[in-house]
Amino acid sequence: MAHKCNTICDEGKIRNLVCTTHPDLAEKFDRFLLESYIEDNEMVKWCPSVPHCGNAIRVEKDKYREVECDCGMQFCFSCSSEAHSPCSCQMWKLWMGKCQNESETVNWITVHTKPCPKCLKAVEKNGGCNLCGWGLHAFLLLDSLLEVYCLSILLFIDAVVLLLVIFDLMHNKTSEKQQNTINKLATGSAHTWDSIQDHSCGRYTEEQEKNLELAKKYLWRYIHYHNRYKAHSDSLKAEVQLKEKIYMKISKLETGESASQDLRWVENGLYTLFRSRRALSYSYPFAYYMFGHELQNEMTEEEREIKQNLFEDQQQQFEANVEKLSMVLEEPFEGYTEDKVTETRMKVLNLSYLVDNLCRKLYECIENDLLGALQHGSHNIAPYKSTGAEKASKLA
Ligand SMILES: [Zn+2]
Ligand SMILES: [Zn+2]
Ligand SMILES: [Zn+2]
Ligand SMILES: [Zn+2]
Repeated sequence: MAHKCNTICDEGKIRNLVCTTHPDLAEKFDRFLLESYIEDNEMVKWCPSVPHCGNAIRVEKDKYREVECDCGMQFCFSCSSEAHSPCSCQMWKLWMGKCQNESETVNWITVHTKPCPKCLKAVEKNGGCNLCGWGLHAFLLLDSLLEVYCLSILLFIDAVVLLLVIFDLMHNKTSEKQQNTINKLATGSAHTWDSIQDHSCGRYTEEQEKNLELAKKYLWRYIHYHNRYKAHSDSLKAEVQLKEKIYMKISKLETGESASQDLRWVENGLYTLFRSRRALSYSYPFAYYMFGHELQNEMTEEEREIKQNLFEDQQQQFEANVEKLSMVLEEPFEGYTEDKVTETRMKVLNLSYLVDNLCRKLYECIENDLLGALQHGSHNIAPYKSTGAEKASKLA
């Protein structure tokens, strides 16, 4: 190509030129083209699997969907994290960050406490829970431990503020900006320059008490949702182990007296269980943000309460039936008589149908009645599909 040559070189021509002179470069060239194509096209993405499977995935129309790559990885096409509906991408990102930040606190609490068998709130190990009338003093002990924990954080913040003040006094040049920072860092809004200098702020105790109560309330709230989320994701892991057992049961049934029966109900039931368990676990971080104060929303307190009750009723009904389905699938039905197998089959079919419907209703409730109340409407979720994440069309 001479200078000022007007020949248009398209990709094909360049590739041919490169190919004849440097065959090894041609492959790199193709890869480069593909990469820039994927970067420019928001309907195409790399599969986020680690180690990378090398596949790129293309969707048509809606990017708010959950897809499954050939390698088996299911992910949210919009944000490339694991499939997380009915959490929105923003909620999921916040939740992951929160879990990371609070993991030490939560670890400490799980080492020293266990969930109350009745109300699932954490109580001290070997102790009881007064929230549901299940023992008393142990809970109070935990409560005071939490109080110490929260108090130490608040005291730490105040100590930092004090250090900043001392530092500034020593250098005798407090800019307005620094003072603002100090005021912001202070635990109570009542902190003024003068009162902290003399350290005789009359409202100190009151403010701190209020903040302490709030910090405790928020921590309890997080622990509650985290416990439920964790319980269901642990169950999902355990149920994935169940898969092999289920296939063994199927092959036993195929050779037994129920051999003539259609056995698809076993596998279908299992996959319904996986999908609903997954949705159930993500429905807890969803509820945490939907009914909490982290995200701005347009609901009044009263509306929030009504909507939360509506949502929790549906969530609990869904949860109860997911547990029932899980229990029936764990029954040793491979050894049952033909009549009892038929009975189990009916139970699994009915529960699968019910659970699938309840899951769809939960998604509909979220999409139609709840998400609209959140401001900055960037909370799109992938629609519910009875068949699970769609097998994506592979690009490369
Ligand atoms: Zn993949
Ligand atoms: Zn996402
Ligand atoms: Zn309890
Ligand atoms: Zn003060």
